[in-house]
Amino acid sequence: MSKKNGYAIGVDLGGTNIAAGIVNSSGKVILREKLPTMAHLGGKAVLGRIAQAISCLMQKTDPKIRKEIKGIGIGTPGLVDHKRGIVREPPNLPGMDGMNIKKYMETRFKLKTYLANDANAYAVGEHTFGAGKGTKNMVCITLGTGLGGGIIIDGKLYVGSFETAGELGHVIIRKEGIPCLCGSIGCVEPYVGANFIAERARKDIKNGKRSSIVKLVNGDLSKITPIIIEKAARQKDKYAKALWNEIGSEIGTALISIVNTLSPEMVVIGGGVSKAGDILFNPIKEKFNKIGFKFLRKRVKIVPGKLSDDAGVLGSSSLVWNHI
Ligand SMILES: [Zn+2]
Repeated sequence: MSKKNGYAIGVDLGGTNIAAGIVNSSGKVILREKLPTMAHLGGKAVLGRIAQAISCLMQKTDPKIRKEIKGIGIGTPGLVDHKRGIVREPPNLPGMDGMNIKKYMETRFKLKTYLANDANAYAVGEHTFGAGKGTKNMVCITLGTGLGGGIIIDGKLYVGSFETAGELGHVIIRKEGIPCLCGSIGCVEPYVGANFIAERARKDIKNGKRSSIVKLVNGDLSKITPIIIEKAARQKDKYAKALWNEIGSEIGTALISIVNTLSPEMVVIGGGVSKAGDILFNPIKEKFNKIGFKFLRKRVKIVPGKLSDDAGVLGSSSLVWNHI
């Protein structure tokens, strides 16, 4: 990326919240805004809420900075037509299907607007400001409710002929397995999503598995989250450790297919579930080093993301500096 001056607005559109911020060209968020998405009010209302978040930032910032804002980047769930700026089939925002977000924002704010799938935007963000800075080819995966992905080839986001590349959550790891929301069977996503992990622990405990997780949630199994299971694992709880080993192993299996296909120098793993740290990364690497090509084992770096809590906003803002 050539050195650019000025600021960009980054908007992370989620099913629950819209997070937005003004970001400088080195990746520092200088102003933040957060609004509930209120997806139930429909697509037009959500467009209005995104615009409201941007307006708030514009009003609050110094007029000198406002003049230096070069564009708006928006990360959204779903498939994206990048050129036209249309979002398709966003899973938690059904009312947004087919909406032209780019046109709406450009008309309203007279600023160039760039739209990308949220995991793709995150990959561009890690490549521009984070762990993948300076790499030529890298893969990014985000672990949260689902498993999102983004692929950088020759320093640029790879979207493919139909602009849908990077759907890494749907790499198949079982011939016969759990049905996935995408319509396929045995995709990695339903085996490693946050809700699956919590539900799996609930089920196992109800079926008699002994674990300190029960104590950590004071007997209320509905309070189990991946963070609680991580806590238990750090307290040397055998069950919790075994569960993380299994999750890591599933991700490692998917990574082998991804790395064998793309030969990236780095795999960056981010998102809420990745905060489990070495408890998750160790079994991922172990699996990769056990069954991946020997030649690749020492060469491909598997590292945690660096963008942390501002990841969504930073990733979206980076679209302004790295046009798709
Ligand atoms: Zn799938």
